[in-house]
Amino acid sequence: MAEHESLEYGKADFVLLDNVSMEEFMANLKLRFEKGRIYTYIGEVVVSVNPYRAMNVYGREVVEQYRGRELYERPPHLFAIADAAYKAMKRRNKDTCIVISGESGAGKTEASKYIMQYIAAITNPNQRAEVERVKNMLLKSNCVLEAFGNAKTNRNDNSSRFGKYMDINFDFKGDPIGGHISNYLLEKVTYRVMVPKHNNCVFLFLHQLLRGATDSLIRSLHIQKDPTAYNYIKVGGQIKVLLTSSINDAADFKAVADAMKVIGFTGDEIQTVYKILATILHLVIAHNTRRSFLTAAVAIQELLFIYFRQLSNVLKALLYRTVSTGRDVIEKQHTAQEAGYGRDALAKAMYERLFCWIVGRINDVIEVKNYDARVHGKNTVIGVLDIYGFEIFQNNSFEQFCINYCNEKLQQLFIQLVLKQEQEEYQREGIPWKHIDYFNNQIIVDLVEQQHKGIFSVLDEACMNVGKVTDEVFLQGLNVKLAKHAHYTSRKLSPADKSLEFNRDFRIRHYAGDVIEAFTCDSYTLFQDFKRLLYNSSNPVLKGMWPEGKLSITEVTKRPLTAATLFKNSMISLVENLACKEPYYVRCIKPNDVKSPLLFEQERCRHQVEYLGLLENVRVRRAGFAYRQTYPRFLQRYKMISQFTWPNHDLPSDAEAVKKLLQGCGFDHDAAFGKTKVFIRTPRTLFSLEEQRVEMV
Ligand code: ADP
Ligand code: MG
Repeated sequence: MAEHESLEYGKADFVLLDNVSMEEFMANLKLRFEKGRIYTYIGEVVVSVNPYRAMNVYGREVVEQYRGRELYERPPHLFAIADAAYKAMKRRNKDTCIVISGESGAGKTEASKYIMQYIAAITNPNQRAEVERVKNMLLKSNCVLEAFGNAKTNRNDNSSRFGKYMDINFDFKGDPIGGHISNYLLEKVTYRVMVPKHNNCVFLFLHQLLRGATDSLIRSLHIQKDPTAYNYIKVGGQIKVLLTSSINDAADFKAVADAMKVIGFTGDEIQTVYKILATILHLVIAHNTRRSFLTAAVAIQELLFIYFRQLSNVLKALLYRTVSTGRDVIEKQHTAQEAGYGRDALAKAMYERLFCWIVGRINDVIEVKNYDARVHGKNTVIGVLDIYGFEIFQNNSFEQFCINYCNEKLQQLFIQLVLKQEQEEYQREGIPWKHIDYFNNQIIVDLVEQQHKGIFSVLDEACMNVGKVTDEVFLQGLNVKLAKHAHYTSRKLSPADKSLEFNRDFRIRHYAGDVIEAFTCDSYTLFQDFKRLLYNSSNPVLKGMWPEGKLSITEVTKRPLTAATLFKNSMISLVENLACKEPYYVRCIKPNDVKSPLLFEQERCRHQVEYLGLLENVRVRRAGFAYRQTYPRFLQRYKMISQFTWPNHDLPSDAEAVKKLLQGCGFDHDAAFGKTKVFIRTPRTLFSLEEQRVEMV
């Protein structure tokens, strides 16, 4: 129970609902949102509803209110979770992590920034210069990552198009000394680099470069300042959106360029970044004609320092591909369609590599160096994960499939860790463990990732035999291997099912709901010729981004890993990384689709509550004990309601005093007494205690 919160604001913790039902949950969520209470707990999980207006709750004074306090002492807040994670790390030497999830526009990235801000505010009391430097680096790196990885979408003006996990390392004093960033699946690169659809715009920095760079830089890149010169900006009604989206392009551009400098990107590196972006723009405007490709090639070979056999090499890579037949190596001319496909794949791959390189470059700078644990004590970590939640659209592509798989993995981790955490606490406290019934989604995780018969495996296999039949092979494989799986069906297996409209539709029953998937095998693999071309650049930065271009055509024996396998592997390592940390959760909800601070769209919110598994979460939490607290803290809060404990008790221990207090109110049957904490089973009891307390004070 949070202090200073009367019931007029609804219940500060969903665990305290009278009945765990969707109706009650939603009523409480709505009431709190309308009263401006955007945060609510489920035990130690924060549920957050995007307020879509400036909330005056993140200032310095508020930081001070949460600093070092226990969760229940103050109204629910992100700061309380940040503080809990920080305390656990500092007091108990634990690595912790904060997992922030929710759909696009729900407020994840804002939440992660407030958490960072809180941690920055409470650390380094002595203003050590080195720590301040690290903090500044972490801040600046965020600015750069957002510029390259965020875009304006119809759902969110500053939408992160990549999943981000950031470790912050702390020294024994609890001050930040470095960090590490991992990025996951930079999405929809094709749209963001080239052809924006449905009001989706390009990555922020591409836009800023075109509109905000100095004239001389623009000239040196052989691009034109007016963004309407570029293909994608001419699409549909884009011009309006792009031109009004930001009046501060020049200032934004400069801020990002400055941030790169501060982080330590060299002048040459920054120039290379511009040149790569310019190259992408040149590719974008190239039509599928030899003449147009020639124009692009002229610009590109200069931008990319490709002197080796010069122009003909760039043009050749755009128009031909080298194929090894085993005995001979031949050059095969692309059809116009293939050339267009190759060009798009190149632009996309160049952007992706650039992004990963930037992340790597930032990591070089922020990573902890010269830290000797024997001298300085253990180096502990708080990880912050800001990653897209379930996406269930009308048309779901491979990207949604990956995102939803990611969320199944995180849910599985959540189940394991929350239950495990509970169980461990009961053991520690010497309280018998009671089995909790819940839906275990492991079966769905297996459906996707299991060796040999999971969807990823079937997909990989189908992609092995390149040809026109791949998609059929893929679906056939799924239908054979997963025919009996309770969470899989397809049009072939359930022909009567009207929701499976097209031949290639199949459905996965995620724990969050049914998703109709339809995706094909055409994994965007890049022609090897491009890799060799870029590797042969005399610009070392660019060359370094394409190490596999070193292999000649006859040396390339292994197929590159498919996008699916790469994603699966990155998820497995993410989950391994999180699993060894003590987790804290923030679940973000988007109240409406029109960015309104007033509108709580019931159906939309209910859907999110459902697929975030929040009710399940409340049940798990309540199946054990709704509330637990150390004896001294419990007394501090409730001692006034019993004659035995007010103003002080003379019992042999605080534990005895708490027992006496609860006996006095007739609640001892609803409580368990651990070694250091009292556990209370039902929220009713807690309510009653709270009511009595309020009467006394
Ligand atoms: P996500 O990362 O989940 O896609 P964001 O964190 O970028 O969403 O939030 C989308 C927008 O919602 C922000 O740009 C901001 O306008 C608004 N918003 C989110 N959280 C808050 C908050 N706590 N206070 C005020 N506005 C917020
Ligand atoms: Mg975001």
